[in-house]
Amino acid sequence: CAGCAKVDEQAPYIAHEFMLDTDIIINIEDSRAPQISTAVFQRIAQIEKKMTLFSQDSEIAVLNAQAGQKAVEVSADTHYVLTKAIAMSKITRGAFDPTIGPLVKLWDVGSGLARVPGDAEIQKALALVDYRSLQINPDSDQLHTVFLPRLGQVVDLGGIAKGYSGDEAKRILLEHGVRQGIINLGGNVMAFGHKKDGNPWRVGIQNPLAPRGTYLGIVYVSDKAVVTSGGYERYFIKNGRRYHHIIDPTTGYPANNGLISVTVVADRGIEADALSTGVYVLGLTEGKQLIDSMDGVEAIFITNERKVYTTAGLKDCFQLTDGDFSYE
Ligand code: ADP
Ligand code: MG
Ligand code: MG
Repeated sequence: CAGCAKVDEQAPYIAHEFMLDTDIIINIEDSRAPQISTAVFQRIAQIEKKMTLFSQDSEIAVLNAQAGQKAVEVSADTHYVLTKAIAMSKITRGAFDPTIGPLVKLWDVGSGLARVPGDAEIQKALALVDYRSLQINPDSDQLHTVFLPRLGQVVDLGGIAKGYSGDEAKRILLEHGVRQGIINLGGNVMAFGHKKDGNPWRVGIQNPLAPRGTYLGIVYVSDKAVVTSGGYERYFIKNGRRYHHIIDPTTGYPANNGLISVTVVADRGIEADALSTGVYVLGLTEGKQLIDSMDGVEAIFITNERKVYTTAGLKDCFQLTDGDFSYE
């Protein structure tokens, strides 16, 4: 998980749970905050149960187990996230690709057993990665069936499930009448509504070169998802080289293009999450072009030369606070 950005903690009630392989924090103000937070955590647990790869009976694990054999029926949740994942794959021209699973498994970054795979293994896994091959029946059908046509194909929703969970968390809070607050899912921040005093929330952008919680700048947002992807938290080092967990689907190797973190600001968490992963793979030039072309989406790019770039829409709501970095 990319760095948990520090955020305003305005509201008096804070609840923590470890879910989706990350720390989830809900920060709201409401007389029924504990019960409401429990409802949110229950919903996130439901999503995790359907989409995790850490259990053999999640819907995604079953889809993967049946690859090359038969279509499987999934819930509306899973169908929605898969459909959205494919849409985001198209938008990022395959830089975000939910069929990345064989490569994620091969690299196994973060397991403690990670090693640099051989080229033949990488090519073999790479040949199974193609979002265009995933067959999803349209939502208008009664049954939500999906099919991976080739043996060995693996869907991995690690780059998008937290984003969806953030959207669902916000939806439940609104349903309970909570009008503002912060939900932080390990670096996926939902800053919803605005602060009680009417000001925007301040979300700290993690300094990718410093310990967690050290921010290099602040973005001011109301009612936005602020989602960061980076190679600085989940990685291993071999022969002096760093290998992280975001894989470039064109090379089969961890993305290596000079970016060390990307933050995407968007209305919806699901889009921000997929885009931050995809844009991290695309790199500064192509990634910035893509975000520039999208309405209502902004981004912050940090390079290994400690340069910070933002899209035009953030010029007035991003403040660089760390003098070791330069704002280009
Ligand atoms: P975080 O780990 O903070 O959630 P991301 O949202 O960028 O960061 O997701 C990274 C995860 O997404 C990886 O751990 C892996 O499960 C999956 N993944 C890796 N590379 C890709 C890719 N190119 N496209 C889609 N998902 C990916
Ligand atoms: Mg992501
Ligand atoms: Mg993420």
